[in-house]
Amino acid sequence: MRRIVILGGGYAGLHAFSVLRSRLGSLVARGEVELTLVSRDGHHTYHGWTGEVLAGDLAVGSTLTPIGPIVGDSFVEGEVVSADLPGRTLTVQSAGAMRELKFEHLVIAAGSVDPFDRIPGLAENGWCVKNSRDMQKLVGELESRDASAQETRNVVVVGGGLAGVETASALAARYGRAGSAKVNVHLVSSSEKLLPSLRPDFDHIAETAERQLVSQGVQIHQGVRVSRIDRDHVELANGRTVASDLSVVAAGVSFSVLPGTESLPRNAAGQIIASDDLRVRGSHNIWVAGDIAAVPHPGTGEPCPANALFAMKQGDCVGRNISRAIKGQSVKGFNFRGLGQAAGLAGRRGITELWGMQFTGRLAWVIRVLFFAWFMPSRRGALSVLSHLSGNLWGAAAGPVAGTRAAPGAERPAAVPNLSGPFR
Ligand SMILES: Cc1cc2nc3c(=O)[nH]c(=O)nc-3n(C[C@H](O)[C@H](O)[C@H](O)COP(=O)(O)OP(=O)(O)OC[C@H]3O[C@@H](n4cnc5c(N)ncnc54)[C@H](O)[C@@H]3O)c2cc1C
Repeated sequence: MRRIVILGGGYAGLHAFSVLRSRLGSLVARGEVELTLVSRDGHHTYHGWTGEVLAGDLAVGSTLTPIGPIVGDSFVEGEVVSADLPGRTLTVQSAGAMRELKFEHLVIAAGSVDPFDRIPGLAENGWCVKNSRDMQKLVGELESRDASAQETRNVVVVGGGLAGVETASALAARYGRAGSAKVNVHLVSSSEKLLPSLRPDFDHIAETAERQLVSQGVQIHQGVRVSRIDRDHVELANGRTVASDLSVVAAGVSFSVLPGTESLPRNAAGQIIASDDLRVRGSHNIWVAGDIAAVPHPGTGEPCPANALFAMKQGDCVGRNISRAIKGQSVKGFNFRGLGQAAGLAGRRGITELWGMQFTGRLAWVIRVLFFAWFMPSRRGALSVLSHLSGNLWGAAAGPVAGTRAAPGAERPAAVPNLSGPFR
């Protein structure tokens, strides 16, 4: 029996699983190969709709896809607490008990974590959007503030990349619509200019996004780091403070080190260094993909961007290579170069770069929504999101989305992820 274990049920892990199942299905059926995917979350979180969720246009449930129906009996819901790499064993805490998972091939696709280690006060006083539980808490807080008319005067968003810009635009739209007292939305970016990943090649769309934020009243603080988040303000590294009733961090990522994996090679950011075939450098049976992997870009040799598309493509590549290795074939290098980047802005607008072409406004939003829906792990989930967003777009009665904004006192349907369906 040859055992393959995938650590992580995000983009990279699910794609690796999907490819392995389709390529090794007959060996699995004959009991010659065992596939296991272990993840602490029972669902996959799709981050592409963060802006829409924060603006109140989509429910948090719309971003969640249960893993069980996709992976079936191969799924172990649990926390990997340590690894014994020479002994080829993971220790997993699952359903209150410890169990061991043996592997011949291990795929590490554990993603990244919010930068609690780099922003003092974030854990105690800040709000995060990466983890679905944190997102759920933040949306609950926004809704309870709406319902109780609790005064929110100042909101600070930390992060001048695509996620931070989306978050600031969405929150400005949410408070702009509320019709209550004016809320000051601040965006703090450590880079000298917003959206550094688009510059200088795509300055046009980066400037368009910045203009839209300004027109929404967002106050932008550029070229300065947040040095501390406090209960009612944030401190900036230049000595200034900004009053804040709600500080939301959509900035940068950190990487936790699983006990037992300290010997793996890492770069300065903490990512595990991969060879171009996505094996961990110096290993022949440990593979790495997604945010946690420093994978050389086939064009530049620099680490690939940490985004969902690269995570999916790396997961696919790992799946193909493990299947080749098991069949005694030679493995291949990762050769995906990227498609583009996008951010949603308020008012069904956006910026999109696709194959080097730049789009703005409603067209950019439509391209982004269609692309993102295509890459969702469930067709049913994608259709549900498209139906709600197109309903909102044309003003049609698409029906209430569980967990989206409702008038205070209105009956609210339960927030249940309604997704199943096959994984591509
Ligand atoms: C707010 C926000 C918006 C974003 N928007 C976009 C966007 O618009 N477009 C885009 O391309 N990218 C976007 N990204 C980036 C994208 O989400 C990440 O690049 C992507 O999640 C990386 O996928 P992954 O599979 O490496 O990790 P994840 O998707 O983070 O998955 C990691 C998995 O590992 C599991 N795990 C980790 N440690 C353990 C453990 N010890 N035991 C068990 N399970 C474990 C986790 O539970 C999770 O299932 C956004 C990110 C954020 C935070």
